[in-house]
Amino acid sequence: MRIGIPKERRPGETRVAATPETVRKLVKAGHEVVVEREAGVASDIPDTAWEEAGAQLVDTAGAFGAELVAKVRSPMEEELKHLKAGTALLGMLNPFHAEGLEKLAATGVTGFALEAAPRTTRAQSLDVLSSQANIAGYKAVLVAANLYQRFFPMMMTAAGTAKAARVVILGAGVAGLQAIATAKRLGAVIEASDVRPAVKEQIESLGAKFIDVPYETDEEREAAAGVGGYARPMPASWLQRQAAAVAERIRQADVVITTALIPGRKAPVLVTRAMVESMKPGSVIVDMAVEQGGNCELSQADKVVRHHGVSIAGVGNLPALVPADASAFYARNILDFLKLIVDDEKKLKINLEDDIVKACLVTQDGKVLREQK
Ligand code: NAD
Repeated sequence: MRIGIPKERRPGETRVAATPETVRKLVKAGHEVVVEREAGVASDIPDTAWEEAGAQLVDTAGAFGAELVAKVRSPMEEELKHLKAGTALLGMLNPFHAEGLEKLAATGVTGFALEAAPRTTRAQSLDVLSSQANIAGYKAVLVAANLYQRFFPMMMTAAGTAKAARVVILGAGVAGLQAIATAKRLGAVIEASDVRPAVKEQIESLGAKFIDVPYETDEEREAAAGVGGYARPMPASWLQRQAAAVAERIRQADVVITTALIPGRKAPVLVTRAMVESMKPGSVIVDMAVEQGGNCELSQADKVVRHHGVSIAGVGNLPALVPADASAFYARNILDFLKLIVDDEKKLKINLEDDIVKACLVTQDGKVLREQK
């Protein structure tokens, strides 16, 4: 199969959907790989490295002539014209964005949105949400540490003692747990909150304290159990008690990192203007949910807002700030997904009995296949 790897065009996107390591494996397996010139430059992959790995370089994605194209982000308008009907397209195609899917379907491509893969053990090696959220959680802490004008660890020096930073993490999914682990490595004192009771043990095993908000009704317990491992919107009664508990921790915090998400919905607002105003001057908030509307009322995408002496960073694409490793992880996810849709003859084979393939297939023959919320 002829596989094309374009240069990503979204502003700020530094990742690429393959690496010389994955290209080498694809070529060894009998595929032809064509890479758009400079596709890897932002991930520290020079064009020579693609050629050494066995790929052919082309000047534009329009010249791929590929049966399958692997991308990081969903195509922008200007990229759609390069997609020929019948081509298979793999990427983070934004399965909740109905309008984007309609446009994609109109090109006639067979689209696979990797974010839609089930969160099962078998899907772990191709789980792009996990591989990228891990990186985002790590980088969010470094962004916070960079903005914070004090130390994260306790420092005892001849010139005096500095206290350890108090870090509060809201949302302890993949990104939040990695944020806890990273802040811990930097020596911070950490507290974390999540709606799902299952994460209490994980938070504690990383050396952080769980902000416990006990459930008082069956409705609260049921909502907290979630669906398929994901959070569901919590009842107002619980959210009020959580808000009070979180408000108190935030008032005392030096750094707050927010990662609370509910798939396909606007992010819950957990840090209000009043909470920001209760914080000490010099405190820092990193809102990882800013692209989904933000967990903090005052955050703005790709800006550092200063309010009452508090810096609020809304970084939309944190994995793109660690492009070399983000691309390496993502490229391995792509390679593993390919194993599910390419047969021994190196042809595209869509097996709808496979729950992963079925969940990810979003466009085919000009139609959007998944009913979006
Ligand atoms: P996510 O990015 O969708 O959400 C981040 C976190 O925010 C979640 O933990 C969620 O519970 C939490 N949250 C939502 N509303 C909140 C609120 N009001 N207050 C506080 N926290 C709130 O989550 P994710 O990282 O994609 O993980 C989702 C689930 O999938 C988890 O259960 C995770 O363990 C599971 N998972 C499973 C696998 C696997 O088995 N292959 C892989 C990765 C993740």
